[in-house]
Amino acid sequence: MSSGSMVTGERAHYLDYNASAPLLADARDAMLGALEVDANPSSVHRAGRAARGMVNKARRQLAALVNTRPDHVVFTSGATEAAATLLTPHYTFGRSPLTFSRLYVCAADHPCVLAGGRFARNDVIALPVLASGLVDLEALDEALSGHDNGAGLPLVAIHWANNETGVIQPVTEIAAIVKAKGGVLVVDAVQALGRVPVDLSANCGDYLILSSHKIGGPRGAGALVAQSDLMMPLPLISGGGQERGHRAGTEAVANIAGFGAAAETADPARFAECVAMRDAFEAGILEIAPDAVIHGRDVPRLSNTLFFSVPGVKAETAQIAFDLAGLAVSAGSACSSGKVGKSHVLTAMGVEAEEGAIRVSFAPDTSAAAVGRFHDELGKIVARARPKNSLAGA
Ligand code: PLP
Repeated sequence: MSSGSMVTGERAHYLDYNASAPLLADARDAMLGALEVDANPSSVHRAGRAARGMVNKARRQLAALVNTRPDHVVFTSGATEAAATLLTPHYTFGRSPLTFSRLYVCAADHPCVLAGGRFARNDVIALPVLASGLVDLEALDEALSGHDNGAGLPLVAIHWANNETGVIQPVTEIAAIVKAKGGVLVVDAVQALGRVPVDLSANCGDYLILSSHKIGGPRGAGALVAQSDLMMPLPLISGGGQERGHRAGTEAVANIAGFGAAAETADPARFAECVAMRDAFEAGILEIAPDAVIHGRDVPRLSNTLFFSVPGVKAETAQIAFDLAGLAVSAGSACSSGKVGKSHVLTAMGVEAEEGAIRVSFAPDTSAAAVGRFHDELGKIVARARPKNSLAGA
């Protein structure tokens, strides 16, 4: 899965799992099976019921992975849509309307959260992160203490694991602070799912935002998962009554089936084993460039992610060189335009990384050969960018 055939016939190494994980064989099989069932899951005939069965199987598979009830899962087209659905001032609590007056996000959140969903721009407050990449809990506590609950409750949205640095936020502590202030917490668990244990019953927020393609399912499926379906956002997409009225539109059965199969395969304990490879990547980087900076290194991070800068080495140039050498890494996070902008995550951490940073993200089945190839190429890149006599003090 981590390797593939390049045009040159050489072996390529895919080290960009946080952008999108390769499709797992089980997910592909489930998708192919779903494509054979050519019907609308809302149809009551046999074929329709078969399609419905596949959607519901995926619902059970995803619910099992995050330890909640299947009917608390609402499938969407991806995490971005799940965020846009959950981040709204307008919810219902039972049959009563419930209003949130402000949305508190974290400056290092993914752009789909920073965009603030259906909140007015002025009602979205970005909370700072510390130099470590962890959200500033004092600032969160202070902001919520100053919130006027009379005008509406506070809604808080924070990522569990950062897509660029891999920094893991203390979600249970965050959830306790938000709860104590009468707020509601949406956790963007896109990068955490399948990589660390995610248990929605264990006080880690009121809602999760999830994405299929980060865990080896297809691109184009995601979900919002609620701890209780008593309180739900007004739908973003209304029309038919699909997803119990929370998301209209005929379900993308094959994508959802693939998502479910990937969820069933996900194994955070196995993912934790990536840490040995991460250590090997990092040790080699620091040997080649002792002044390299590994961002977020002092706090808990995803075992599969490292994000680093080398003074004098432009990340974008390095990425191209890695690509030519058959190593798919990223310079920051992938964005739709294909351009690499300045990392808002590093800016939020107060890091001056003028030349950008390289992200390496992988999986338990990434071949050990990738590490050696990566170091060989990094050595050449650094030597080209910083000829020997300019390495003084490095
Ligand atoms: N949240 C995080 C932390 C992500 O890394 C991503 C994708 O990069 C998203 C949300 C958006 O996911 P999707 O591509 O499913 O919309």
